[in-house]
Amino acid sequence: MLEALGEFGARDAVDVALATLLMAAALSWLRRSRAALVAVGVAVLALVYTAAVALGLSLTTWLFHGFFAALALVLVVLFQEELRQAFEEVAAWVLGRRDDYRPRLGSSDILVESLQALAAARIGALVILPGVQKLERHFHGGERLGGQLSRALLESVFDPHSAGHDGAAVVEDGRVTRFGVQLPLSRNVERLAGGGTRHSAALGLSERTDALCIVVSEERGTISAARGGRLRELAGGDELRHSIDRFHRKRRALSPSRAGWGGWLRRRPAELAGAGALAIALWGVFVAGARPAEQVWSVPVRVLHAPEGAAVASVEPARVDVTVTGMRRSLALLGGDDVVVWVDASGAGSSLANGEGSAALPLSLDRVRHPGRIEVRRLHAGQVTVRFAPDLPTVAAAPSENRVR
Ligand code: ATP
Ligand code: MG
Repeated sequence: MLEALGEFGARDAVDVALATLLMAAALSWLRRSRAALVAVGVAVLALVYTAAVALGLSLTTWLFHGFFAALALVLVVLFQEELRQAFEEVAAWVLGRRDDYRPRLGSSDILVESLQALAAARIGALVILPGVQKLERHFHGGERLGGQLSRALLESVFDPHSAGHDGAAVVEDGRVTRFGVQLPLSRNVERLAGGGTRHSAALGLSERTDALCIVVSEERGTISAARGGRLRELAGGDELRHSIDRFHRKRRALSPSRAGWGGWLRRRPAELAGAGALAIALWGVFVAGARPAEQVWSVPVRVLHAPEGAAVASVEPARVDVTVTGMRRSLALLGGDDVVVWVDASGAGSSLANGEGSAALPLSLDRVRHPGRIEVRRLHAGQVTVRFAPDLPTVAAAPSENRVR
């Protein structure tokens, strides 16, 4: 297989590099999504399938074919939401939408101050800071607003006596753009850690999008933040500020025009390394491994149909060289012992006396048995000399086995 590296040309380099990038993007997306465990399961099955194909296990391969066809459909249905998200991310990336992300100066201060005041007053609140992805599709109800962010505005929005205090407020570019919005609830009871529907709404949106969702609990007076499907209670104002700042930094880095490809790549060393290794392995098997190759193997000779009363005593030579061709990976998985050259000894009777003697028997290409994935092109010997000995019927031994050999 190592000789394949010698053929690694410019086209292969581009091929592997592009595949690495695509797989790194897929891995980085998978790591963040609900589909991660499922992907591991599918990868294991794919490995078993590849092994079954390589070893020529027809029944297993056949079962997998049916299974994979159904699996593709099941995965699309199960992970509709994740797939949609992934495609949206690609679109946002390519179009560079909302490129020039600049959180309004001081807006974090106002947010921290207002949310702390709400927490101290035990007034429930839910504030959404959008990431790169579009959120509208997850919103239900609510009112549009364009008001500049201020502590007074947030306190009015979440005032329990106001009609619009139920639901979430969206804050972007230093403005409250919506309030009273209903969000999708999370189905992950474990991560909710005892929170009620307000916390579940924050977690739910964070599972589906890259938004930062901040909750003030009216029961406990605590502030929690949900991001990427994780809900965390924050220790105080400092941690809240830290969370918001980190979110803004990441959010800004996500803009392609600012970070560029280099930035995106530098932040994903693990994904890149994994994807690179996988790309090279796949290239080896599916590109280099699929190229045609030719080898010379030493294969065994078998004598069949020994004449009545004679048994094969020896074959000279017992192995002959043959030239085989096929895909490099098939040749790598098989060897000389998977091929048999057989000779027909039924016509040798005339040169024997009492079952004893020897005969030169011709070899021919149409008397070669081999697994279908390779082809035998040439025999390096024209004939073999077979010596026979009388085949004395014994009571105990099974004569048929001896005769074949
Ligand atoms: P708290 O700690 O403040 O009590 P909680 O997590 O225990 O919060 P609930 O007590 O059930 O949650 O709070 C109910 C409030 O959560 C509602 O009045 C409403 O404002 C908000 N809420 C409930 N469902 C949603 C939703 N789907 N989207 C946005 N907000 C919601
Ligand atoms: Mg409650």
